[in-house]
Amino acid sequence: MTQILMIGCGVIGATIAYELSSIAGVQVTVIDRTSGVQGCTSAALGVMMGCISQKTKGRAWQMRETSIRRYDTLIPELETLCQQTIPYNRQGILMLCRDEQKWQQKQKLAKTRQSQGWELQLWSRATLQERCPHLAVEQCLGAVYSPQDRQVHPKILTECLIKVAQMRGVRFEFGEDVVNLVAGYSGYRVQTQSQEWQADRVIIAAGLG
Ligand SMILES: Cc1cc2nc3c(=O)[nH]c(=O)nc-3n(C[C@H](O)[C@H](O)[C@H](O)COP(=O)(O)OP(=O)(O)OC[C@H]3O[C@@H](n4cnc5c(N)ncnc54)[C@H](O)[C@@H]3O)c2cc1C
Repeated sequence: MTQILMIGCGVIGATIAYELSSIAGVQVTVIDRTSGVQGCTSAALGVMMGCISQKTKGRAWQMRETSIRRYDTLIPELETLCQQTIPYNRQGILMLCRDEQKWQQKQKLAKTRQSQGWELQLWSRATLQERCPHLAVEQCLGAVYSPQDRQVHPKILTECLIKVAQMRGVRFEFGEDVVNLVAGYSGYRVQTQSQEWQADRVIIAAGLG
């Protein structure tokens, strides 16, 4: 059995643990210095800027594109497994444009996205005013509406990932601060303030830590 040790249990650590938990022959242990989901993940707005981001090629775009597609299957999959609703906004993202250069960039981006099979709508100020009468649009040149981008509740999502990973055998060790990591010929030694762990692989998902 391959022993994998993860340092950090924010959205990144929890997601990796969840994905690894469906692989046979792997024992995953996740260590976090807090009681879990207390880092950046607990502060995030969960806005997922995929189509609306300026990335159009290479790995940065590829990862965003894969993520947009994966979230639409991941959320219902998790909701079924943990019998809980995860707040997930499927209404898209609206970005207001006040800057001429940015407005031009977005017009170019909309064409690129169309060629990539995604949709970005360019709204004039009049359209914006009509569809969103609650917004103060005087300073806006227009807006970009991205119907395929999403927003998720990061904390609830992460808690669900932990819950399901735990059900599948992942161990979570909360309140353990990793203070040292030693790489040896036969694996790794990970030291916390109270104990030492052996692992074949170590994944560092410690965020700013
Ligand atoms: C105010 C705010 C708003 C944001 N809004 C968005 C947004 O809308 N959309 C978006 O995509 N991103 C947003 N982000 C960014 C997003 O929150 C982060 O990119 C994401 O949460 C990082 O997740 P993580 O798992 O890498 O880190 P974290 O959630 O920080 O998790 C790292 C974990 O590692 C643990 N750790 C660190 N060091 C150690 C150690 N030595 N031993 C044990 N445990 C350790 C910490 O306790 C922590 O739990 C926002 C961030 C902030 C602060």
